[in-house]
Amino acid sequence: MTGQINYPSGGEKLSVKDGKLHVPDNPILGYVEGDGIGPDITSASMRVWDAAVEKAYGGKRKIHWAELYMGEKAAGLYDGNYFPEETKAALRDLLVSIKGPLTTPVGGGFRSLNVSLRQDLDLYACVRPVRHYAGVPSPLKRPEDVDVVIFRENTEDVYAGIEYQSGSESNRKLADFLRNEMGANFFQEAGLGVKPISEFGSKRLVRKAIQYAIDNNRESVTLVHKGNIMKFTEGAFRTWGYELAREEFHEQTITEEELYSIYGGKRPDGKVVIKDRIADIIFQMMLLRPNEFDVIATMNLNGDYLSDAVAAEVGGVGIAPGANMSDNIAVFEATHGTAPKYANQDKVNPGSLLFSGVMMLEHIGWQEAADLITAAYQEVVTSKIVTYDFARQIEGASEVKTSQFASAIIDQIRGGLDIEEFREQREQAIEKDRKVREMRRVSSPLEEMIASGRTPHTVGDLMNPSPVSVPADISVEDAMHLMREKHISSVVVRPGEDGEWGIMTQRDVLSRIVSAGRAPKSARVGEVASKPLVTVAVDMSLHECAEKMSNSNIRRVAVTDKDREPIGIISDTDIFASVEQFGLPE
Ligand code: NAP
Repeated sequence: MTGQINYPSGGEKLSVKDGKLHVPDNPILGYVEGDGIGPDITSASMRVWDAAVEKAYGGKRKIHWAELYMGEKAAGLYDGNYFPEETKAALRDLLVSIKGPLTTPVGGGFRSLNVSLRQDLDLYACVRPVRHYAGVPSPLKRPEDVDVVIFRENTEDVYAGIEYQSGSESNRKLADFLRNEMGANFFQEAGLGVKPISEFGSKRLVRKAIQYAIDNNRESVTLVHKGNIMKFTEGAFRTWGYELAREEFHEQTITEEELYSIYGGKRPDGKVVIKDRIADIIFQMMLLRPNEFDVIATMNLNGDYLSDAVAAEVGGVGIAPGANMSDNIAVFEATHGTAPKYANQDKVNPGSLLFSGVMMLEHIGWQEAADLITAAYQEVVTSKIVTYDFARQIEGASEVKTSQFASAIIDQIRGGLDIEEFREQREQAIEKDRKVREMRRVSSPLEEMIASGRTPHTVGDLMNPSPVSVPADISVEDAMHLMREKHISSVVVRPGEDGEWGIMTQRDVLSRIVSAGRAPKSARVGEVASKPLVTVAVDMSLHECAEKMSNSNIRRVAVTDKDREPIGIISDTDIFASVEQFGLPE
């Protein structure tokens, strides 16, 4: 490499083989220190990253840093050029880099450097993990429930810059075309913008999100969209997302509908659940039930709003990390700006850049070093050693400088941290939380649906899964005991000699046994059951199901899977409650 950038000798470049990142033990990683507070947080964070790698691998692995130049430092070195070609080439060449914040020069028609970076390198996914670290002040009652990774599409949507100013010639031309040829109707002189959302752009983003979920043992990927209003852009994103999951990750994913209709609310081991939520609901859900969301994939504008809103739930921009990625290139970055009023004061919180580095270590597969930093950070913040921004929110805090904060973390890393215990505790907490949610899904699917912002469409969405089935030849008395014990009002009756499935309800027992004066002990379930069993397919719409029930004059029907085996029961009460709550689905 010629010019201003020098790769350190002794380091080796990363490479991609068969689509997989190959990382040597002595990788060259790029860094841009950034403007304003950039140099303070970069030097502090680099000391921490290096210390963690040293401790985790006992010197066997070491990062070799190559300084790259963007922003004001680049302008000084490259004759006023804020984003030199040499830097772009190095970012592509090294594959993995990290950068501090950059000033956007005011006036003169500059594109924001961050926008240039994303566009010029086609870094189409903005990835923002948001989770709570013990000790960090938060406005939530249970901030520890927030642990989500947001994948925001970076290149399309209303951010594509296809806009026509009110009063301009191009605006007039477009408005005429839309009115005269497309029959569109809008106010005179309206400013106009175009919102392109493509299958290609949507699918590559969702692919990255699902792959991340699989690689990191995450439970679900939620597609966030406003498809109920913008059907051909946001609605199409949702459709393409599900399509991609089906086509490319068929073995590793199930839909949320299948989670209930086929698996009775129990997520099969290793399967990622693909679900979707309307954009406005997700803001509410991320406050009320954040632990239901693991990985989120969404378009540019939704993602922009959502990532800052969720970051604010757990400590704000001071500590939220991020990355911009293409298929092979990743640039990790502090998500806040240059905070010029604090430049060179060794004062601000290095958390955002520090955790972007943790993401980077995870990305290159150095999880042990990443965990050391997370564990050490929590120890330090819990002991109330913090920078000014947290100090003003934590009573009795000791305010320290950026460099002192980094040193406190390094002391922890080098000290007696029990990293195994830290990992075990974290895994146990995740597992416990997953079990609690699974129990809720299994025991009360409708309540879960109401609370989690889903709208029921099909019989499978509403049914009570795993019906209790009994053989036809047991006594009615035994079946009655079972029904009382399990708090259920009906049982499915397995085929007897006649080969027919049936259903026996409390009402059947009352009308055919009790009121007829027969002894429950001597009567067989097969004689009392209603046959043949009226069934509906799991994907039947609620509307059709209600029609079938009223035509057959029955109050509950069995739900069958594609092999026509009963897998659940749905009652008129379930449909009534659903329509009362959600209205009739479209
Ligand atoms: P900013 O630099 O993010 O600063 C806004 C406020 O956020 C600061 O005054 C400070 O709040 C708080 N803050 C930011 N970073 C912090 C940290 N590390 N620790 C503690 N508190 C922190 O936003 P801005 O003032 O709007 O933008 C300044 C420049 O940065 C502009 O040129 C803008 O274009 C650029 N920018 C760059 C990026 C990027 O490179 N990714 C992103 C956004 C903005 P208090 O004042 O309350 O202490």
